[in-house]
Amino acid sequence: MCGIIGYVGGREATPLLIAGLKRMEYRGYDSAGLAVLADGALTTRRAAGKIARLEGTVAATPLAGQCGVGHTRWATHGPPTERNAHPHLSKDGTVAVVHNGIIENANTLRSLLQGKGYEFRSDTDTEVVAHLVQELFNGSLEEAVRAALHEIEGTYGVAIISSRDPGKIVAARKGSPLLIGIGENEHFVASDASAILAHTRQVVYLDDGDVAVVEAGGYRVIDTNAAPLTRKVDRIDWELGAIERGGFAHFMLKEIFEQPQTVENAMRGRLILEDGTSKLGGLNLTHDQLMAIDNIIITACGTSWHSGLIGKLMLEELCRIPVAVEYASEFRYRNPIVTERTLCIVLSQSGETADTLAAMREAKRRGARTLGLVNVVGSTIAREDDGGIYLHAGPEIGVASTKAFTSQVVALALFALKLARKRGLSVTRGMEIAQALHALPAQIREVLDRAEQMEHIAEEFKRAPNFLYLGRGVNFPVALEGALKLKEISYIHAEGYPAAEMKHGPIALIDEMMPVVFVAPHDAVFDKVVSNIQEVKARKGTVIAITSRDEPALKGLVDYEFRIPETVDLLMPVLASIPLQLLAYYIAVKRGSNVDQPRNLAKSVTVE
Ligand code: GLU
Repeated sequence: MCGIIGYVGGREATPLLIAGLKRMEYRGYDSAGLAVLADGALTTRRAAGKIARLEGTVAATPLAGQCGVGHTRWATHGPPTERNAHPHLSKDGTVAVVHNGIIENANTLRSLLQGKGYEFRSDTDTEVVAHLVQELFNGSLEEAVRAALHEIEGTYGVAIISSRDPGKIVAARKGSPLLIGIGENEHFVASDASAILAHTRQVVYLDDGDVAVVEAGGYRVIDTNAAPLTRKVDRIDWELGAIERGGFAHFMLKEIFEQPQTVENAMRGRLILEDGTSKLGGLNLTHDQLMAIDNIIITACGTSWHSGLIGKLMLEELCRIPVAVEYASEFRYRNPIVTERTLCIVLSQSGETADTLAAMREAKRRGARTLGLVNVVGSTIAREDDGGIYLHAGPEIGVASTKAFTSQVVALALFALKLARKRGLSVTRGMEIAQALHALPAQIREVLDRAEQMEHIAEEFKRAPNFLYLGRGVNFPVALEGALKLKEISYIHAEGYPAAEMKHGPIALIDEMMPVVFVAPHDAVFDKVVSNIQEVKARKGTVIAITSRDEPALKGLVDYEFRIPETVDLLMPVLASIPLQLLAYYIAVKRGSNVDQPRNLAKSVTVE
């Protein structure tokens, strides 16, 4: 998920690799490293933390050589330590691998390789690739890599070098971007064009399934069966900033558009369609422990608290266990009822949120088992919880959370599904939900294809001083999250409310100046929502509705409509929250605010 750079040519590789890694720093990472090939041997330098530390190590003990690979790691398997930093070497030290992504069958491959005498020196999934390439090596690096790729399941961008077949980098991609940079008698491999822009603007973007053999004098692209492929050379005309944002105007927009992928990553290798359940490796809860849970407390702050509310509805509906959702800052300072049979689910993108961490510690002290749903591997919450589910959403740079939110909802759904199936949910219902989860990435793509419609709606309302967001059931938390997004980045006052609760107060605010966003997909409470829309219309409010089909009941009631696909009711929030992210984004841009770094807000709130 993070950065790869490779160089082969006539110049010293180390400074080029370090400069390339620095260009990718903006992506966020937790450790870095490089491997360079000279005089028939590979040398590596790795460091936890910032690239500056790696530079320090390299300055103290320089490495020479004109072919090498470098990496910034964003941990998915194993904490962000030096021993887990890439490159990873094979047992005999002749193969060095940098990898972005996740090897799903790493455990199986690890046992297999251990059986053949390979010792593992890291906790990563990546290390299996290095040993596997050594094991399959028979004179040609590209052949060994191709053979290894046939054994590997999961996602990868990899760049591999070997002292037994020097002067070349073998790179391959599946689900993680990779490109070749073309220079004069030198070539680069990179996961991100910004890493090589200082040297060339001529690039070849690799497709999934491609293997590239890159040497100083040229490159070849083949498939995993060695059939040659033709890939066109592109010229990059973008400026550096635009490249970093993947061509999007802001990180937030990029992250909104990444959601088909990030939602898929949250489910990757975890969803068992045929049994209508999920497999969650990191739970650390035995069958008996899962069965013994008699109440759940979800604790979180901000956007994560909203996904917690959705989680509550899923868990209560499917598992029939009472769930309380608590603001972490409130929970930690009262006398909550926690027993040995309480499961405390802790939600935090960064895994460092101070209040959430303190709430988790308090729940632990009182005897609860804790389960962390965090995005950042090796973060404090991930280290201290009893078990966890990583979100695998990749680094989130925009301060206002988007992709981490949808991944949290999906992770909660996976957990609810697993628990529910153990506790009596029928296989048919389980399969229905599993199928619906599986369909989400493509449905999110459909929503994003209509982003432009939201931009038009935003144009109409960019000057509104207030907004009301209403929804019912599982879409009430979506209304809260929609209002929060708007507040955070556009500084417009917005409130989220349960749609029917509006008449107990906020209805007093409604007049022709008040836009009201209704989250009104066709679900079990749709008819009830229609009545609430009527109440708003009767008071001349302007209605923006998120709907899922052509509804005769809404004729003449809705001023602006945005359509989303249908899914099972419990998963509707994943689809319904995306148009609201877009609405907030476009309004904020039109008002000229700093979308990625809104005033007064911090990405990771590590103070009480
Ligand atoms: N899964 C690998 C690891 O945890 C790669 C992480 C990345 O994409 O940076 O080391």
